[in-house]
Amino acid sequence: MSAPVLHTARLPAGARATPRVDVERILHPRSVAVLGASDSKAKFGGRIMNSLVHHGFAGEIYPINLHRSEVLGRKAYASIGAAPAPPDVAILAVPPAALVPSVREAAEAGVGCCVIITTGFAEAGPEGVARQTELVDVAARTGTRIIGPNCMGLIVPHHHLALCSSVVLDTDRLCDGTVSLVSQSGALMVSIYDRAATDGIGFRACVSCGNQSDLELCDFIEHLIGDPGTEAICVYVEGWLDGARFRRAAAAARVAGKPLLVLKTGRTQAGVDSARSHTASLAGSFEVFQAVCREEGVVLPRDPDDMVRAAHFLVRHRGPRRGGVAILSGSGGGAGIAADRVSELGLRLASLSPSTRAQLDPMLLAPQALNPIDLGGRKPPEEVEIAGDVTRILFADPDVAYGLAVLTSMPFFATRARLIAEAARACDKPVMIAFTPGAAANGPRQALREIGQFYCDRVEDAIRVIALVAEHDTLRATPPARAERPPALPDATALSTFRGGPLAEAEARRLLGAYGVTVAREARAPTPAAAAEAAAKLGYPVVLKAVSRAIVHKSDVGAVRLGLSSREAVDLAAREMASRLGPLDGFTVQEMLASEAEVIVGARRDPQFGAVVLVGLGGIAVEILKDVALAPAPVSAARARALVDSLAAAPLLHGARGRPPLDVDAIVDAVVRISWLAADLGPRLVDLEVNPLIVRRAGEGAVAVDARGRLEDS
Ligand code: ADP
Ligand code: MG
Repeated sequence: MSAPVLHTARLPAGARATPRVDVERILHPRSVAVLGASDSKAKFGGRIMNSLVHHGFAGEIYPINLHRSEVLGRKAYASIGAAPAPPDVAILAVPPAALVPSVREAAEAGVGCCVIITTGFAEAGPEGVARQTELVDVAARTGTRIIGPNCMGLIVPHHHLALCSSVVLDTDRLCDGTVSLVSQSGALMVSIYDRAATDGIGFRACVSCGNQSDLELCDFIEHLIGDPGTEAICVYVEGWLDGARFRRAAAAARVAGKPLLVLKTGRTQAGVDSARSHTASLAGSFEVFQAVCREEGVVLPRDPDDMVRAAHFLVRHRGPRRGGVAILSGSGGGAGIAADRVSELGLRLASLSPSTRAQLDPMLLAPQALNPIDLGGRKPPEEVEIAGDVTRILFADPDVAYGLAVLTSMPFFATRARLIAEAARACDKPVMIAFTPGAAANGPRQALREIGQFYCDRVEDAIRVIALVAEHDTLRATPPARAERPPALPDATALSTFRGGPLAEAEARRLLGAYGVTVAREARAPTPAAAAEAAAKLGYPVVLKAVSRAIVHKSDVGAVRLGLSSREAVDLAAREMASRLGPLDGFTVQEMLASEAEVIVGARRDPQFGAVVLVGLGGIAVEILKDVALAPAPVSAARARALVDSLAAAPLLHGARGRPPLDVDAIVDAVVRISWLAADLGPRLVDLEVNPLIVRRAGEGAVAVDARGRLEDS
């Protein structure tokens, strides 16, 4: 199965007949037709029929097969038009060449929604695109909805609906639950389903969307937000069709109190046009997506199994939660390794209260009970008894929000594992259990499966899940910040005086100045003599910069001279630049600013999510250190401050180790203003960046000395 592809061969909004069915009906059809139905499990249509019948779908099943009167004991029909009533859903696994006519026929017969497994559409070159366009056309004309093509169908356990040909459905029963999954990839959907089922985690609904020619990921996400049976939503996505729609859905999920976890590929895709601006390369599409998710409280797992496990725990233990991680282990080594990894992932270890410690002390060998707790070393039979008690007391501590039990091999392994698991469940906090041994832990594993307790086979897996649950808790604890327009910003119409194309530096600084960003005092000079003249007027020392459209990064080619303090020095430096750099458009003479730190503030427009603003450690270190933070624009002052404070360099800005505190307020102000400028530019913004913003001591301000940008034509 090829990766699903997004393509323009999809339904244009507005230009369509009224949809015949809604998503609720598609997930809970009263009747299903299977085109290409067969008894043979060697065929798609046979496997789908088998899944439907075997898992007890209670609605009508209409096998469609020209040559058969019965399939798997159900009356078959020669054509979909011959079925006794138009089915809510038809599933099609017919060859590509036969597909479009089949869909047309289904639409004419009044089918509500066609689920198209067939591949060979937009993902398969120009011919496929043409075929997909025909499909889209049928949907638009008739109001029949389409899922796919190139999808794997749906699994809705509580409706006994397994509309899917995958082998993972060759099980006794479907695994029902309250987590829903929406996946662009079909193959991934079924493997996630299967892995979760093995973990004892069930689903409310699993949908694969394939090429999203009509119904797209967001149609399902939006529906599931309103679905009372869905308590958390997991999404696998390669590319959004409509970023703004996803963002609205994410905001709605937060309002509904439903965790939303999204695994998106393309993390490592390089930014666009990185030569021209740092912002473009530092705020690539994945970074922007990440920033939007942070803003909207969406958790971003890196692994599909982690995603579902975290969702499972978030549903089982609803927040809010605040606190650290408590670790319990059968070995000091296991506890130590876990404690290191927990800290490395940025999680805090809980500090146990005196009362917890007083209760634990008499039970443990270690003289003082400190987190992590080492359970080992006690002689039986006492240790059998203490395992449950220690677990209960430890995880009940008020500073413990998350628990981790690392089960190394120990005497009475199965019994103790079970006692620990039962006590962990009773504490109503997300507690992960991880077994470290191999086959020796099979008995304990079985004991936990019997009580329906989820466990991991690697400590690392368990910690990643804890980290995701904690990420969710932190994100949702911060209310969404709504930005307020600072007073005295110019009317957005003032922007129409700036022409499209790359902005000359002087123009970029004028644009920034119009939005209240402090820019260095400077003068333009066409010749070395004029530069020397301008320097005298500006006051020494000055900075001399060569101006040329051909030069992007001036200091790389020696086009910046700092600290010139006489007319002669400026004149000489300018002549030298002119002779070395070839024809120039002139010079800029700038006041020389005493700098305590250099910061970059940039903005760019992302094709999916619109304007974003970025702040980071600036100057020439920017691309090397990549110490940057970004957020969708515009930002509130609080968000801008949070961005600045999230930088690794933040302690330097705040005055670490005897250094004077710098004017962080001025950085925040510049970030807010540039974010509004970016937002006001709307679709005209390509990118815009100040590098550096020279930051001075607290109360002395911050000044833009270099700026560049590019606008679209208005
Ligand atoms: P470019 O980024 O094109 O190389 P800049 O104008 O940013 O050129 O100058 C390069 C570096 O020179 C800046 O990062 C900063 O360290 C220093 N600099 C530039 N202008 C000034 C100024 N007016 N005052 C103090 N330092 C400056
Ligand atoms: Mg610069």
